[in-house]
Amino acid sequence: MNIVAVANQKGGVGKTTTTVSLGGLLAQAGERVLLLDLDPHGSLTSYFGFNPEGEGAGVYTLFQRRAQGEALNPGGVASLTGVDGLSLICASTAMATLDRQLGAREGMGLVVAESLAQLRAQYSWVLMDCPPMLGVLMVNALAACQHLLVPVQTEFLALKGLERMLRTVSMVQRSRTRALDVTLIPTLFDRRTRASIDTLRQLREDHTGMVWPGVIPVDTQFREASRAGQPLTTMRPSARGSKAYAQLLEWLLAETPLGGAIPLREVSRG
Ligand code: ADP
Ligand code: MG
Repeated sequence: MNIVAVANQKGGVGKTTTTVSLGGLLAQAGERVLLLDLDPHGSLTSYFGFNPEGEGAGVYTLFQRRAQGEALNPGGVASLTGVDGLSLICASTAMATLDRQLGAREGMGLVVAESLAQLRAQYSWVLMDCPPMLGVLMVNALAACQHLLVPVQTEFLALKGLERMLRTVSMVQRSRTRALDVTLIPTLFDRRTRASIDTLRQLREDHTGMVWPGVIPVDTQFREASRAGQPLTTMRPSARGSKAYAQLLEWLLAETPLGGAIPLREVSRG
């Protein structure tokens, strides 16, 4: 099972879009994919038509059960997204109270890792959409994942936010037994703007070897896809944005330890 976290403490940089797009591509390639919505805002949950204001099932339930010493049944809280091979564990706004309620309790940093360990036989990939703040949910994601993807918007203010995220990562690295692989993904790239071009150059200069060599371009079709509740990569594989995510996935499989265990049958080239 490949476990990937998608995180950045800045909002609106493409975390949810990246989670949905890669999840869609992997599912289409025949993988059994589980998406985890760890953001109390529940954008990923809403994307697939579920209500994050609801009962507080999903991720919230996993934490409550652990706190009450009950058995975890992570498979039981997964929902189907309507896309073949793609399941989702929903977020709820109640998750915003987890830090206050349980943050300090012992063992709360490993709830996600322990839950996922029970799902090894059911899923070949897990993608986690992380919250934009450092707290018990982010700590759980960074403890559970093998690989971290950090979408970075190619605009001036983005690089400051990135430094904050990378400080969080190096803090977590110290408590891990296995090093966390990190890939920075330039997103919302608009080649007509100075800001995009300059930020991209700066990013590659500052973080040599950590940045995916491609870019995710601005593509208005992402918004249409989110209205339709489907990954753009599934709905319109030939869209510019879909092709960019297909290239990203190919690169991740070829150039990082990801996918080493399970060869993909086919990654859509768009
Ligand atoms: P985050 O999860 O980091 O807050 P989102 O993935 O939700 O960011 O993206 C924020 C907004 O930008 C959404 O409305 C999304 O549809 C849009 N968006 C994301 N990536 C792109 C892109 N490459 N081109 C155009 N719009 C995008
Ligand atoms: Mg989001």
